Amino acid sequence: MMDAGRHPNIELLTYSEVEEVSGYIGKFEVKVRKKARYVNAELCTGCGLCQEKCPRKKIPSEFDEGLGNRSAIYIPFPQAIPRIPVVDAEHCTYFLKQKCRVCEKLCPAEAIDFEQEDETLELEVGAIIVATGFAQFDAKSSPQYNYGRSPDIIDGLQFERMSSATGPTEGEIITSKGVPPKRVAVVHCVGARDEYSNAYCSRVCCMYALKHAHLVRDKTDAEVYEFYMDIRAAGKGYEEFYERVQAEEVYFVRGRGAEVTVLEDGQLMVLAEDTIMGRPVSAKVDMVILDAGMVPYSDAGQVASTFGIGRSEDGFFLEAHPKLRPVDTNTDGIFLGGACQAPRDVPDTVAHASAAAAQCLSLLSRGVVTISPTVAVVDEELCSGCQVCIALCPYSAISFVSHNGTGVVKVNEALCKGCGTCVAACPAGAIEARHFTDRQIYAEIEGLLRGLRLEAEEARV
Ligand SMILES: Cc1cc2nc3c(=O)[nH]c(=O)nc-3n(C[C@H](O)[C@H](O)[C@H](O)COP(=O)(O)OP(=O)(O)OC[C@H]3O[C@@H](n4cnc5c(N)ncnc54)[C@H](O)[C@@H]3O)c2cc1C
Repeated sequence: MMDAGRHPNIELLTYSEVEEVSGYIGKFEVKVRKKARYVNAELCTGCGLCQEKCPRKKIPSEFDEGLGNRSAIYIPFPQAIPRIPVVDAEHCTYFLKQKCRVCEKLCPAEAIDFEQEDETLELEVGAIIVATGFAQFDAKSSPQYNYGRSPDIIDGLQFERMSSATGPTEGEIITSKGVPPKRVAVVHCVGARDEYSNAYCSRVCCMYALKHAHLVRDKTDAEVYEFYMDIRAAGKGYEEFYERVQAEEVYFVRGRGAEVTVLEDGQLMVLAEDTIMGRPVSAKVDMVILDAGMVPYSDAGQVASTFGIGRSEDGFFLEAHPKLRPVDTNTDGIFLGGACQAPRDVPDTVAHASAAAAQCLSLLSRGVVTISPTVAVVDEELCSGCQVCIALCPYSAISFVSHNGTGVVKVNEALCKGCGTCVAACPAGAIEARHFTDRQIYAEIEGLLRGLRLEAEEARV
């Protein structure tokens, strides 16, 4: 992050969203909304005094997954680049009641600017990498785990924050009573490999569930019960790590954690079927870590339509070819990097995103773009301007242009993939696919039939 922030050729647009993308490979036009943070980035020194003095301090922190609080003006996370706070207008007393402005009064750099407004930037770029990542499966969607019913049933990301030295407990693993747990259950495959939520395997969770067991054993004296279906430890050094955790006296129970119940005394009971012993088992614990699978971001559909890219059945963004073009999309010049394409861990994300960056560099350094000659061509004399083809084109490659008082359609050759949908649909027969014209196809059929006829005659002789 720091390297990216300092790089002379990288312009970071944080707290910003892409709103519109038009154009084509080599010449995309991108509209970006830079949201108002109510802090002048040029003046702010990132001293943090504003968030320290802000009187509204009890807002659940998104970064700490609700385990800690933040103020209404806050630096989103400790290593944020740039280190500039943002005012949360939904909770700031000034925006709610038109009073307070403590941060403005105390800021030594006079950087607070309540008049700031969203800005729209228009950028022209040659290629795009979409790297919007993943969301963690919401364990509330699997009601058998009673997530949300006890503060001691936490999910994987909450445990990550709790065990981090910069987290709300400064790395201490403690229950809601403020003491270290005596018995902890780690439940694998929450919202993964499950016909009722997500059938696919999230690949990463086995390893981070093992990491969680290791951290509990390392930081506390708690007994750890690991409920798993089978361990998927494919990766360099991963099997060795699994063996190491086994040697740390973690109790592995082979069977999906079926249910978590909250007992009257506040303790938790995990029920499962031990498939090795062939019998139901239960464990009474003080803390349950639900290691949930990875799912697409909730706005993945919106992002896909903004960038004109597809999604696979599981909702992640669709690559052009699963084996041969795993970082390309079906829109030339738009690439995918990391977990937005499929669940993957950090080493695989780095490899995937580096490949996407290399694809962009090789594309841009060439300076010219090679496109397939097999594209749709419009005969303007025949086109009636009905625009049926525009609605049908899956690549948004056709536009309408005024011509001699009426209008005709035009195909953008850089976007067209020559699929032939418009050719088949045009009521006026005004569109042809270059190198696949009707005459050429009839000639091929005639040639084929002639060959078959000659073969049949030879056979008769
Ligand atoms: C509990 C847990 C523990 C894990 N532990 C490990 C581990 O120990 N080791 C390991 O290798 N992997 C681990 N992983 C996996 C690791 O988190 C992922 O491999 C990695 O985060 C993927 O990186 P990414 O950049 O593709 O996605 P992300 O990390 O999700 O980053 C995507 C970024 O894009 C931003 N974004 C999303 N939508 C938009 C938008 N529309 N506009 C602008 N920005 C947007 C997001 O805010 C985010 O900052 C763990 C995952 C979980 C859930």
